[in-house]
Amino acid sequence: MIHKSEICNILEDYDTTAITIATIGSHTALQILKGARDEQLKNLVICKKGTEEVYRQFAVADELLVVENYKEVLEKEFQEELIERNAVLIPHGSFVEYLSPVRIENELRVPIFGNRTVLEWESDRTKEREWMEHANLRYLRVFKTPADIDRLVIVKFPGAKGGKNYFLASNPDEFKTKIGRPELRLKLNENDAAEFTIQEYVIGTRFYPHYFYSPLKDRVELLSMDIRYESNIDGIARVSHILQDIPTHSQPEPSFVVTGNLPVVVRESLLPRILEMGQRIVEASDQLFSPGLIGPFCIETVCTEDLEFIAFEISARIVAGTNLYINGSPYSQLLYDEPMSTGRRIAVEIKEAIKADSLDSIIY
Ligand code: AMP
Repeated sequence: MIHKSEICNILEDYDTTAITIATIGSHTALQILKGARDEQLKNLVICKKGTEEVYRQFAVADELLVVENYKEVLEKEFQEELIERNAVLIPHGSFVEYLSPVRIENELRVPIFGNRTVLEWESDRTKEREWMEHANLRYLRVFKTPADIDRLVIVKFPGAKGGKNYFLASNPDEFKTKIGRPELRLKLNENDAAEFTIQEYVIGTRFYPHYFYSPLKDRVELLSMDIRYESNIDGIARVSHILQDIPTHSQPEPSFVVTGNLPVVVRESLLPRILEMGQRIVEASDQLFSPGLIGPFCIETVCTEDLEFIAFEISARIVAGTNLYINGSPYSQLLYDEPMSTGRRIAVEIKEAIKADSLDSIIY
C-alpha cells in the first residue's frame, strides 16, 4: 500500500488554482464531469478507444484522453501526465473494477478523492461484514459451509460484477447441484478463485440510500436513493403466477444482473433509521481504518415487513444509482438550493477543501 505521506508529497507540488477532476469514462463519469464543471473546476475523462463518442456527444469534459486499455492508467508515464495536470482522480465502480483494488492501493500515485484504504474493506466480504457488525447494523446470517444451509440463501462470488452468476439455494443438495454448473466452474477456474459467500436471502423491499460524508463539515448527508433493476429476477416477478404451474426442473434460475436503476423515496417515518445507519457506518469506519470513509457511499439494504432494515453490502464510493439524480433528488433538494448530484457534491467538497487549504484531509 502506498503510504499517505507519499501522496501528500505529490499533492504539495500541485497548483491548487488549477486542480483537474479526472475519472475513467464509464459508470458515473458523466455526472462527475458535469459536477466539476458546475463548480467551475477543470475536468478530464479517460476513455477506452471506442467509448469516447459518449463524452464528445455530451460535451461535459474539458479534456479527453483515449487509452487502448484502462490498465494504461497505471503506467508511470500516464500517471505523470495526470500529476502534471494537478489531477484528483474520482473512483467509481468501474474504475475500481478495471484497475483492481490491489493495484490502485499499491501502484496509483495520483491523488484519489477519498481514503484508498477503504477499498480493502469493501472488496473483502469478511472485512465488510466486520465493518457492518462494528457499526451495529442488522446484518443477515452468513453460512460458513454449504452443509449448514437450512433456509433460502443467495450464493455470491467476489468482485462487483453486477450480480453475475449468483444463485439461490434452499439446502446443501441444491447448492451442490448449482455450484457444479459447467459455466460456473469454468468461470471459477479462470479466476483461480473458488471463493463464495453464502448469505441468507432476505425477502422484503430493497432500498439503496446514497450518502455523502463530508469530513470538512463532519456531516453525513442523505443525497438520494434508488432500487436496482435486475435481470432476470425482476422479470420473473411479472410472470410468477404463470411460473407456479411449471414443473420445478423447468423453472428459470433467478439471476441478479443489474440492468438499470429505479428512483425511490422511503416512508418518511423510516428516515431516522436510514440516517442512523449512514452515521454508524462512518463512525465505525473511523474506528476501524482512521480517518475512515470520505465522500460518497451506499448501504444496500432490504426492509422487512417489520420495517427493519437488513444490510447486505456497502459500496464505499459513488454508486451508479446516483445517475438518476444528475439534477438533484427529493432529498438533495431539501439540503441544497442548487441541483446537487453526488458528482457535484464531490466537486463542492474538493473546492471547499482547496479554499480551506486542507485538500490533504480528503484525498489519499
Ligand atoms: P450484490 O452484489 O451484493 O449487490 O447483490 C446483487 C443483488 O442481489 C442485490 O441488488 C439484490 O437484489 C440481491 N441480493 C443480494 N444479497 C441479497 C440478500 N442477502 N437478500 C436478498 N437479496 C439479495
